[in-house]
Amino acid sequence: MSAVSSLRTAAAVTTAKVTAVVSRRLGFGGGTALPGLVADAVSPGLAIRLAARLGHGSVLITGTNGKTTTARLARNIAQAAGYWPVHNHSGSNLMRGITACLVEATDARGQLTQPDRRLGVFEVDEATLPEAAEALSPRVVAFTNLFRDQLDRYGEVDSVAAVWRQALATLPSSITVVLNADDPSVAGLADACRGPVLFYAVSDASCAVYEIEHAADARWCPACGREYSYSAVFYGHVGHWVCPGCGRARPAADVQAIKVEQSPDHPLRLALSTPSGEIDLSLPLIGLYNAYNALAAVGVGLALGVPADAIRTGAASFTAAFGRQERMTVRGREVQTILAKNPAGLNQVLRAISAEEGTKNLLFLLNDDIADGRDISWIWDVDFEMLAGQATLVLASGRRAADMALRLKYADIGAHPVIEEDTESALEMALALTPEGERLYVVPTYTAMLKVRKLLARWGRRPPFWEED
Ligand SMILES: [Zn+2]
Repeated sequence: MSAVSSLRTAAAVTTAKVTAVVSRRLGFGGGTALPGLVADAVSPGLAIRLAARLGHGSVLITGTNGKTTTARLARNIAQAAGYWPVHNHSGSNLMRGITACLVEATDARGQLTQPDRRLGVFEVDEATLPEAAEALSPRVVAFTNLFRDQLDRYGEVDSVAAVWRQALATLPSSITVVLNADDPSVAGLADACRGPVLFYAVSDASCAVYEIEHAADARWCPACGREYSYSAVFYGHVGHWVCPGCGRARPAADVQAIKVEQSPDHPLRLALSTPSGEIDLSLPLIGLYNAYNALAAVGVGLALGVPADAIRTGAASFTAAFGRQERMTVRGREVQTILAKNPAGLNQVLRAISAEEGTKNLLFLLNDDIADGRDISWIWDVDFEMLAGQATLVLASGRRAADMALRLKYADIGAHPVIEEDTESALEMALALTPEGERLYVVPTYTAMLKVRKLLARWGRRPPFWEED
């Protein structure tokens, strides 16, 4: 590197670090995206230069749902294997968030501590994948699933798949791509890969639901147009699929969940068959979709050459990503917050809630900010009906509280929905109306989750997320 470019890197890093500190002091949040934006303005291409210093290169994880959980799990697995990961743990997954996270990992001269141990583990927004893949020269790229999400932002599911294919086709053949064999749109990406592909899947059909949910988005074969036929559906369009027209079918998986056990109040237990032998995992998560996240993370670990023991240790050290799925005690009530951002995700959340015993206290928060998706008609694709008659308390909040309440009223899930637009008042009310000792489920969209999290952190004395690891 020339002296001038090295100087410019150092200047960009310093400016970004100062921005991060100021942004945090002023209470603007974790200071994750703004410094990246500033650093990039000072020194375009900063991410490329910083990523090149990561001794073990990078792993990119993308997909509609589950990338935060998968990336955190992969991070833990990498840590257990002796890597020192650089990870965008706040979930800031656009290029500027990744740049910010690289900046944070370097000192004022733009140097990484122990660069030989460094591995980037980055969660990447679906639409950012091509740019990130080009800038970060990853070793491994993993895909979780492809569902309809924030239509106004990404357009059709097919166009996202097309963007991914293009990105994959330009990657060198040395890169391992980790794919979900049970999601036809993701499995189909294998055709575009130039190097090794590692497939993961759930083979335990005992947890299948055997009917296509409303959230199914990829029911038709792109090759011949026929509708896929399924011998097992796990959620949405994810399952054991085959095209009766051209014979395209779910590929054989390298990493398989041969046994999935889920029970109320118990962690998710998985028996995995892998090329490195059997691996049993127990995770503090609910929902079959998290079994897929675990499979994807294990796939990343195996692609990196991590031994089975380190995979077990890494998974055992896992705690759920902030706000996405966590429990805490607030004023004598157990509050479980689960992020829901699209029909497939929310259906899984509802399935998990309905599997728990007893009547339910529920608070749904629906916002329509850009980060939530402006179009909220997706709530009509969600099977709220699976909670029919189960709720004693139902509150609808957020800017689109009335729309949510109407949807819940149609689903007839028990109590008449109460509308309170203001997040803080709704949360106060929900806590007051939930009997002491009982559990309150809080199901927010993304921007509502940030508010909920802040309030619960204050009331339950939990530090804001950027102070946690
Ligand atoms: Zn076909």
